[in-house]
Amino acid sequence: MQQEIYRTTCNKEKRRNMITQTIHSEEVSRANALIRKAQSVAILTHMSPDGDAMGSSLAMKQYLQALGKETIAVIVPNSFPDFLAWLPDAGNILVYDKQEEESNTIIANTDLIICLDFNDTKRIGKMGEAVEQSAAKKIVLDHHLFPQDFANITMSYPHASSTSELVFRFICQSGDFGLLNTSIATCIYTGIMTDTGNFSYSSNDPELYQIAAELMKQDIDKDAIYDQVFNTYSVSRMRLTGYCLYRKMRILGKNTALIALSKDELLRFNFQSGDGEGLVNLPLQIANVHYSVFMREDKDKIKISFRSQGERPVNEFAAKYFNGGGHKNAAGGESYDSLEDTVKRFEQHFREYFKKEQQ
Ligand code: 5GP
Ligand code: MN
Repeated sequence: MQQEIYRTTCNKEKRRNMITQTIHSEEVSRANALIRKAQSVAILTHMSPDGDAMGSSLAMKQYLQALGKETIAVIVPNSFPDFLAWLPDAGNILVYDKQEEESNTIIANTDLIICLDFNDTKRIGKMGEAVEQSAAKKIVLDHHLFPQDFANITMSYPHASSTSELVFRFICQSGDFGLLNTSIATCIYTGIMTDTGNFSYSSNDPELYQIAAELMKQDIDKDAIYDQVFNTYSVSRMRLTGYCLYRKMRILGKNTALIALSKDELLRFNFQSGDGEGLVNLPLQIANVHYSVFMREDKDKIKISFRSQGERPVNEFAAKYFNGGGHKNAAGGESYDSLEDTVKRFEQHFREYFKKEQQ
């Protein structure tokens, strides 16, 4: 028996050490100290939660549960897409804009707030104010550029594929590889898979495949995860895709695609949160298209998504002209002009900003 435990511990130790300690160990120990002390934890993630936001948050919740924490809430600013509703424990997530009072009470009274997949309180909408006012200790674990300084500990690693990858690393670096289970691994894998477009970008780090292998050893059903996330279009979403490509996509300059949808068009095709993700990526399948822009008329603003390939950063452009930001190849922003004026303004800035490439 003794020997068995020893062998298991040894194996775990060996596996843990296979992976580079990417997160600074001093940050991991400080974060662990805050986690140890906290009786209650609120895990928050960004507006329009995607697979990484949801996966990293639910994985972190289950990890903390495995550590013995009992009072843990995951709160998202607004609702998440149906194709992520199957994630383990997603049913217990609080949605701030629907459960504002309950969420505010938790945020105000919790001992610790863990912010995942965002690094700026602007990214969580109205919930940001509640977070800034809360006396709770705050930890950020994230992979976006330019973190705002609002937390006690900011673990910021923009080279990571996803926040979910960082959650995996955090668990391992905390010495808790042994606490991984199928459910945690499923959440982490979902986040990595969605933030890398099923391992087609931001995925050149060989260690990512070691991590994927470790997750698979936890008995996750990788193929079912893919199926549940990507093969879940509604008929209207598929028809909207056809409409966008056939009727709406414009090719600007040499290498840029633009799709802009009005409120009426969105309504006609029963547009749901999450439908935009599939759309903005599609034009990049055209041989010489390396930038893709998708605009949609929201309730009170125009929401814009930018995508690019290779060394063509779009996050700075999004920040400079559209009050946004994000990653090198996937960024977003917003505009308070009309859709028509936003398109015009975009064309003008884009021609100017990417002048060299368009010649
Ligand atoms: P999406 O186009 O899928 O909405 O967003 C892609 C990425 O861009 C997100 O992961 C996020 O990092 C970033 N992003 C999207 N919208 C905004 C925004 O309004 N502000 C900032 N700072 N980043 C955004
Ligand atoms: Mn992410």
